[in-house]
Amino acid sequence: MSRSFTAPKGTFDLIPPESATFLRVRDAFAAGPKLAGYGYVETPIFEDTALIHRGVGESTDIVTKETYTFTDRGGRSLTLRPEATASVVRAALEHGLHRGQLPVKLWYSGSFFRYERPQSGRYRHFSQVGAEALGATDASLDAELVWLAAEAYRRLGLGGCRLLLNSLGDPQCRPAYRQRLQEFLRGLDLDDDTRGRVDINPLRVLDDKRAEVRKQLHGAPLLADHLCAECQEHYDEVRALLADLGVSYVDDPRLVRGLDYYTRTTFEFVHDGLGAQSAVGGGGRYDGLSSDIGGPSLPSVGWSLGVDRTVLAMRAEGIAVDDAPRCAVFVVPLGDDAHRRMVPVLATLRTAGVSSDMVYGGRGLKGAMKAADRSGARYAVIVGERDLRGDVAQLKDLASGEQVAVPLADLVDNLQEKLT
Ligand code: AMP
Repeated sequence: MSRSFTAPKGTFDLIPPESATFLRVRDAFAAGPKLAGYGYVETPIFEDTALIHRGVGESTDIVTKETYTFTDRGGRSLTLRPEATASVVRAALEHGLHRGQLPVKLWYSGSFFRYERPQSGRYRHFSQVGAEALGATDASLDAELVWLAAEAYRRLGLGGCRLLLNSLGDPQCRPAYRQRLQEFLRGLDLDDDTRGRVDINPLRVLDDKRAEVRKQLHGAPLLADHLCAECQEHYDEVRALLADLGVSYVDDPRLVRGLDYYTRTTFEFVHDGLGAQSAVGGGGRYDGLSSDIGGPSLPSVGWSLGVDRTVLAMRAEGIAVDDAPRCAVFVVPLGDDAHRRMVPVLATLRTAGVSSDMVYGGRGLKGAMKAADRSGARYAVIVGERDLRGDVAQLKDLASGEQVAVPLADLVDNLQEKLT
């Protein structure tokens, strides 16, 4: 007996009707960047492993535990992309986009891969839409991006998204703060793993969700109190612009994201209907990433919004998307000759922009009419042998039941007129 297959652990298939919600979310996320001058970028699904390590950060969970890395037949080490920012910056540098007008504004949509412990809202293959503005420190870009994301959630009808905002400082103020934080954390009662993290990535410890760690973190020094004047000014400007834009947010001085490249502005959108995996999207500034991967200094800001979790958030709020494929016209040929004759008519209808489908497989009138009803079409075009001899079709209004004979030659025009 041959074995049967299922989708790999931590992955799932998108199938109708639920797949319509995914498309809706992707479209909503992409709509804003398109209106704001962002061009579409698509990079390979795998990258040089070294780029991912340097771009995302050696000390991150993503790089230490979650990459899908393999050696190809040519002996190169490649990694399935766990996120896109490093790739987008790599592509911009490779093609010299940064030598043109700045900022370079780009958006993307695609699949990402992380070897995580699967649970609701956390998958090994997931989908993000992102936007990046490369080559400017202007706080109005930070505010623009945050607004675009907030607007996308609003358009989708989501009322339960909260925006958390923080500044992670820069190489001027962060090292001194990092040291101060390490001193504080080394005085706590922590397990070996967490102690290790204090050495390599102490800011992540602030974000620890475990109660036994959390209760010890009261009184930890916060970066918000140790920002240098330039970072403070930048953060104040972002906040003032968000207020002007009517975007509400909560200052969250403990917000640290799971990627090393962030500087200054960082933000996360969370939804309370999702349980543990509450982040539906996030982003921030990454002023040092370009130089980290061998490029010139290119201060940049961006976000990446999770499609899968946003769909879950819509479900949690009971937002229904009814995008079942519906055709305006359903063709019912009775008999082989009629079927043969109607195939090109169907093509003409579709060329004319009339959404149309037909019954396949030579079903009888009863079964065919049932299929027509189920299709949700407004009109059925029924063609029997006698109709064929008279070069006519029976055009039936499926709502009223009214039926008239129409010359086949006039059918497309007639339907187009009725449907507009
Ligand atoms: P990140 O790239 O980690 O900043 O994540 C941005 C967004 O992508 C998150 O807010 C999530 O909505 C989504 N996301 C990240 N990792 C996963 C995952 N493993 N499964 C599903 N969605 C994810």
